[in-house]
Amino acid sequence: MNMMSHTELLAAATVSDPRWAAVAARDARFDGQFFYSVKTTGVYCRPSCGARPARPENVTFHASAAEAERAGFRPCKRCKPDQAPLAEQQAALVAGLCRFIETAERAPTLEALAQRAGMSPWHLHRVFKEVTGLTPRAYGAAHRAQRVRAALGRSDTVTDAIYDAGYNSNGRFYEESDGVLGMTPTAFRAGGVDTDIRFAIGQCALGAILVARSERGVCAIALGDDPDALARELQDRFPQARLTGDDPAFDRLVAQVVGFVEAPARGLDLPLDVRGTAFQQRVWQALRAVPSGETVSYSDIAARIGAPNAQRAVAQACGANPIAVVIPCHRVVRNDGALSGYRWGVERKRELLQREAAA
Ligand SMILES: [Zn+2]
Repeated sequence: MNMMSHTELLAAATVSDPRWAAVAARDARFDGQFFYSVKTTGVYCRPSCGARPARPENVTFHASAAEAERAGFRPCKRCKPDQAPLAEQQAALVAGLCRFIETAERAPTLEALAQRAGMSPWHLHRVFKEVTGLTPRAYGAAHRAQRVRAALGRSDTVTDAIYDAGYNSNGRFYEESDGVLGMTPTAFRAGGVDTDIRFAIGQCALGAILVARSERGVCAIALGDDPDALARELQDRFPQARLTGDDPAFDRLVAQVVGFVEAPARGLDLPLDVRGTAFQQRVWQALRAVPSGETVSYSDIAARIGAPNAQRAVAQACGANPIAVVIPCHRVVRNDGALSGYRWGVERKRELLQREAAA
């Protein structure tokens, strides 16, 4: 029988501890649950520390940072085990920058934000997007859009409202406003006044269907049981728009849309007038890339738009989809494959998915 040396015994004891596997894998899920110190360097680390791996015979495990320090070890400069985990620090930092962007007179530049955060502009851009799902610029634009919406209900003139909201020139606002309001500010202020919307309600295999179109393209497709309720919803969204029904020329468009809803794989080549926030637009664009016959999860979509932590916001954007079937939010299911909710009724979602799977 071999006699083990003292070193070998120490190493064997460490390696047989389940915490060693977490250290060897640098598994960040164990960060905060325990710490380990290294005798030869005199420092202690989080399990995920990226420093050169220690030899097991030199490692001791500790339940807390305080315990490691009482044993005489210093915090590692690389993984900073005496501070909050990196993800928490970054979330706090980004939250602070969001408040700064919201209260700034003018949209701060990326350089100004980076300087404030003590990071390079490139790194800040990446961290900000990871936490919020938006770039700092898009966040600022979306926030100002909300202020514009609020101010338009209050200010005497549209120009006052634009300056109140922190836009430095009318031209700039009009440039951005198409995306955030979906119509000119004057039209939005008046609830869609000067916007012509034609609509018609037909029947399809899924029940009543409303199709509405502005001068720019299809702006709503809705499904339901009650045609009158669909018309009322459209009216509520655009209370001041000129809504026109009963246009014979429009029936062809409705027939086209109905044909598409019955067989989405055929595709529909119509311009869309999609109105939503920058984030919603990105989600809807990602949905349009999901082919008929396939399903994805909310986390798939979150990952595809580069915002892996924004699953809840993705689900909300799916729920706010204005254009049924063409923006196929029905192809999003839960991670376990179960159907989740559907703005136009979960039975219609099931029916659509069954049909697409069979096609
Ligand atoms: Zn470390």
